[in-house]
Amino acid sequence: MSDQRKAIFLDRDGVLIHDVHYLSKLEDIQIYPDVPKGLRRLQDFGYLLVVVTNQSGVARGYFPQKFVRECHDRINQLLEVHQVQLDHLYYCPHHVSGLPPYNLKCDCRKPAPAMIQQAEKELNLCLQASVMIGDKRSDVELAINADIKGILLTTGQGASTSQSVAQDYPSIPIFPSFTQAVDYIIEATDISLLQ
Ligand SMILES: [Mg+2]
Repeated sequence: MSDQRKAIFLDRDGVLIHDVHYLSKLEDIQIYPDVPKGLRRLQDFGYLLVVVTNQSGVARGYFPQKFVRECHDRINQLLEVHQVQLDHLYYCPHHVSGLPPYNLKCDCRKPAPAMIQQAEKELNLCLQASVMIGDKRSDVELAINADIKGILLTTGQGASTSQSVAQDYPSIPIFPSFTQAVDYIIEATDISLLQ
């Protein structure tokens, strides 16, 4: 359908901001320096910017759900000066060994595909034209489970997992920076590898 949008699904920790392991203070949010410009280019190219993040710190009692939204608002505040905004946030607060009511075997914790499926419906997305960028095996497997194109960055935790990801999923492109992933996406869009 022609009114369908395309999206870049973005992992948060290790892709947009430094991974500080269960971020629990707004002051610890640090956006990677090349991310604002990269997001701006994607947005100018017509992509919606959609964060998909596992936040089991909620289930573990490290921080409330409200804090996850506050982090999202803070990131958008920091991005404002670069004239770019993240469009949507989807997060999974669950973990099987967490505290009730979050101790569920859910279908939204990455690599399960429910967050992307929900975004597809709510935002009227064409998944074939959409891309997932992450720094973990679970991000790559999310892309595979949701049947969309995935990209692994070696920022964040990607450095330690890229070898095994390359071995198990040889078709997944791996890049050392957000900028290079954006270059790749824009080039692929230009030559219609992505619709
Ligand atoms: Mg990550």
